[in-house]
Amino acid sequence: MLACKILVIDDEEPNVRLLERLLLRAGFDRVVCTTDSRQAAALFEDFLPDLVLTDWLMPEIDGCAVIAQLRALIDPDDYLPIVVLTADVTPLTRKRALGAGATDFLTKPFDQTEVVLRMFNLLRARLSHVLVQRQNASLEESVRERTLELESTLAELRDTQQQVIQQERLAALGTMASGIAHDFNNALSVIVGFSEMLLQREEQDPAARDKTQALTRILTAATDASAIVHRLRDFHRPDEAEEHHLPVDLNALLTEAILLTQPRWETDALAAGRVISVEARLGMIGCISGDAVELREVLTNLIFNAVDALPEGGAITLGTRCDGEAVILSIRDNGTGMSADVRHRCLEPFFTTKGKRGTGLGLSMVFGIIQRHAGTIDIESTPGTGTVFTVRLPLAGEESETLPDAPLEPGGPWRVLVVDDQPVFCQVMRDCLQYDLHLVETALSGHDALEKFRASAFDLVITDHVMAGMPGEQLAVRLKEIDPQIPVVLLTGYTSEITTGHRQIPAIDLILEKPVSRMALRQALARVLAPTLPEPACRAVAHAAA
Ligand code: ADP
Ligand code: MG
Repeated sequence: MLACKILVIDDEEPNVRLLERLLLRAGFDRVVCTTDSRQAAALFEDFLPDLVLTDWLMPEIDGCAVIAQLRALIDPDDYLPIVVLTADVTPLTRKRALGAGATDFLTKPFDQTEVVLRMFNLLRARLSHVLVQRQNASLEESVRERTLELESTLAELRDTQQQVIQQERLAALGTMASGIAHDFNNALSVIVGFSEMLLQREEQDPAARDKTQALTRILTAATDASAIVHRLRDFHRPDEAEEHHLPVDLNALLTEAILLTQPRWETDALAAGRVISVEARLGMIGCISGDAVELREVLTNLIFNAVDALPEGGAITLGTRCDGEAVILSIRDNGTGMSADVRHRCLEPFFTTKGKRGTGLGLSMVFGIIQRHAGTIDIESTPGTGTVFTVRLPLAGEESETLPDAPLEPGGPWRVLVVDDQPVFCQVMRDCLQYDLHLVETALSGHDALEKFRASAFDLVITDHVMAGMPGEQLAVRLKEIDPQIPVVLLTGYTSEITTGHRQIPAIDLILEKPVSRMALRQALARVLAPTLPEPACRAVAHAAA
């Protein structure tokens, strides 16, 4: 309390000195005095006292005016006592002083004990007030902090809720997708198998360049489609989705995507009487690190959406450019555009404005892929004017992987037994293997296979997974009972379930995902028949031709 600061204003020097002495004797050594009441306000602001003593009758500015001046400088919530020093306390003076904001009175001549006691009481009240104010402030601070914490928890909760909803949708999608994946893979197996076979033949005929090109595109599309099916299934488990990131030339992908989508934006559009122009403005960009199949899918999806947004025809412009450490890819159309609501929701799985014609999955896949590539996507759209999708992808770092190994030379020739209950797959596999000069026998069931296996010698058995009568896994066990050394490759449309379910299949040496390209098959053979070769990952094997 003795550290409190006191300001004294009195025009009579002897009075000032007397008070100063009294206060000093009581222990108050932080006292500032003035005999000029015009200085009161400035001194107050400078000194910031805890208590003010002021004379009442003064020339120039009297006590009443001084109090009014000081009160104007004091926060109304603050308790800062102002004591009036006066010889006669008439009721009128008292009323005026209190009205101006005085707290108390001290009568002249001063009684030492009274002055000291009064000071102590008032300052005690002042200190309690300051303490309460400090506590209030710290309480308010902690309430503010709590509120912020609560707000951020609430935001997190909302995010989590959104994620749960999203997760549910994706899980539903995953269930649906894995259901169709199997059948879809079978269809693709045929496309991949036969296009490869035709390509082999065309390769020998230089006059068939156009056909070769078309076939190459069919093959690319089918292999991409098979990768899409795999990813559809991995869609709701992004952590388990594999990351085969390699240096990718986005300009080359873009040119390819324009060609791949040409039937849609040119042929189909012209047939419907609308003209769509597609222009590429390719900038000088470096490689990005990514998955070419996924990125091609991003491009084709965005082009398809742009085509859909041009019911009367129009222009699609695709561009790439460098921006610091990133590559910017933009796809612009001057089509129908989106309302703010559609723009906000367009990335949601299953959101579509195209009714039965749409799936609402394109952009959510695009979004997932861009996220997996550590990129961002930005959408600007104005109804009636058009839409721009801007994708930003980080440039490949120094540490990015090198390009995949050159294709393997086929080893062998090996004697291979192919088992599949669908004759068409047996034929595709036979063509594939025979191209590499292997000797192939086929069986349409597990029992058929066992019979053939007992009858002649084989280096390898390739069997389908799901077959009527005896599934591939069971066949493998029976084969190993006959010859424990025989390598068995299981062909399946459900690899991720087997591999990600951590279910060990003892008799199986390698699992291959359908559809199997020639290259994948070569690598699989190399792996099971020449185990000294470096082990390619199972999935990498299945996707090697992609
Ligand atoms: P789908 O194409 O099957 O409808 P997407 O996920 O690809 O599903 O797109 C979702 C929705 O976003 C579309 O239905 C459409 O309303 C909107 N959209 C996407 N791209 C464009 C575009 N370029 N112009 C206008 N609307 C678009
Ligand atoms: Mg779409």
